[in-house]
Amino acid sequence: MAKKLTCKSWAEPFKVKVVEPIKMTTKTYREKAAKEAGYNTFLLKSEDVYIDLLTDSGTNAMSDYQWAGMMLGDEAYAGSRNFYNLWDNIKKYYGFPYFVPTHQGRAAEHLISKILIKPGDYIPGNMYFTTTRQHQELAGGTFVDVIIDEANEPQNTHPFKGNVDLNKLDKLVKEVGAKKIPYISLAAPVNMAGGQPVSMANIIELESYAKKHGIKLWLDATRAVENAYFIKQREKGYEDKTIAQILKEMCSHFDGIWVSAKKDLLVNIGGFLATRNKHVYEEARNMVVVYEGLHTYGGLAGRDMEAMARGIEEMTNYDYIRSRIGQIEYFGKKLMEYNIPIVQPIGGHAVFLDAKRFLPHLKQIEFPAQTLAIEVYMDSGVRAMERGIVSAGRNKVTGEHNYPKLELVRFTLPRRVYTQAHIDVTFESIVSVYENRKKIKGLKMVYEPKYLRFFQARFDRL
Ligand SMILES: *Cc1c(COP(=O)(O)O)cnc(C)c1O
Repeated sequence: MAKKLTCKSWAEPFKVKVVEPIKMTTKTYREKAAKEAGYNTFLLKSEDVYIDLLTDSGTNAMSDYQWAGMMLGDEAYAGSRNFYNLWDNIKKYYGFPYFVPTHQGRAAEHLISKILIKPGDYIPGNMYFTTTRQHQELAGGTFVDVIIDEANEPQNTHPFKGNVDLNKLDKLVKEVGAKKIPYISLAAPVNMAGGQPVSMANIIELESYAKKHGIKLWLDATRAVENAYFIKQREKGYEDKTIAQILKEMCSHFDGIWVSAKKDLLVNIGGFLATRNKHVYEEARNMVVVYEGLHTYGGLAGRDMEAMARGIEEMTNYDYIRSRIGQIEYFGKKLMEYNIPIVQPIGGHAVFLDAKRFLPHLKQIEFPAQTLAIEVYMDSGVRAMERGIVSAGRNKVTGEHNYPKLELVRFTLPRRVYTQAHIDVTFESIVSVYENRKKIKGLKMVYEPKYLRFFQARFDRL
């Protein structure tokens, strides 16, 4: 009997116009490349990678509309027309009157951390992000994680695992006093927890708590469009709102945002800070001149700002964001069919393997996630990234390793770049590594840089 159609698929609302060849390599070749890279996927040459799922940061495919915009780059030192186009779209889509461009997200984090934090301050946030926390600490602050406990349980299917636990926040406020807390640093969704979203209800609760205690509320809105999509899917009352409406509503609850444009905005470089606070804006506009460039380009070319302005118009398209997150769901569900341990629910930008359950025979100090990432690379040429003890760095005071609860390998999907067949090849490689997992030995760290060590650390096989 012929199979009956039970449901209809979605597909991408775009087609391919330009192709970029990728290199196919042998296992022997990849083993040598891995060794030369100190078993750190960040140190591999991109040319030696077949399917690159290291990050979705700046790896997006731009549309013909964006490329056409690049030809309209106004490369004036001051007052470029593209700056004004970008400003208009930031007002229209994010709803903030003021904005300062930066060359990427961490530059905006640098500015906001320097402006708002005094040495000895505390900055509560939902889990942490590597560069965000680094800048907060370099400004003299101490980051305090106030995310809900469910975020640390890979198998817990709570729909909004990025939410802040108001009791944890209140405990901190009581301990150190609201005066020592310049702002709450919210990220939505939470990258390090597996791309898990924050609910609008939690944002609203946070806003009223922050107002009551005279604390500012800032959002890392780098992936806010993905968060808006999850709110539409999962939160009552938002089913019929557009992604653009939800994004703007989210932003309306914050004093300001910082953004790495290399994610949601569908470009290869860029970032910005936007706010409704005139004082913060003026400070940022002063400082950007010292660290980035004039306040009308902030380290970017005019053409980059035009691509960002146009990316903002494309990023809230429902069919686009559905196909992006749909591709990640497809990947995650395939892995689940083979009982591969992944973080659930499946996140907004990546599938995260749970290395603690994948390689239970390895101790955390043998770097299970780092090991798993390089094993998959050697198997198939697919590149992923560690999000575990290496990324977590060392305790600022004691110098000990931070031992995070989660030991994950992140397979991140660049936007509009790979096909479903690429996903199939990737999940087949993960399954084959899983079938041979008992033979896998861990790593030892042989070189460790001082800051953000995961980027450049080197390892040897045990
Ligand atoms: C990528 C990212 C950043 C840092 O931005 P860069 O453009 O890489 O400097 C900050 N926060 C989040 C949530 C990110 O994903």
